[in-house]
Amino acid sequence: MSAPVGPEPTVVTCHNCHKRVTTSVDYAASTKTHLLALLLCIFGLCPCACCLYCTSCARNVEHRCPACKAFLGTYER
Ligand SMILES: [Zn+2]
Repeated sequence: MSAPVGPEPTVVTCHNCHKRVTTSVDYAASTKTHLLALLLCIFGLCPCACCLYCTSCARNVEHRCPACKAFLGTYER
């Protein structure tokens, strides 16, 4: 089960420990990010590919419970 979450830390009820918590977020590069970076490299735009990894806008946001570390959901860009 995953909660509907956005790109920011969200207040949800943890399905594991049943506490009301503000999620801790983790930015993870998605497959899409890697593919896009690869494409940019092919076209000789390596600096752009590096920028892609530096900007959080190209990454998924993973939400976890700060109390029990249970995975609560992913926000996909
Ligand atoms: Zn929890």
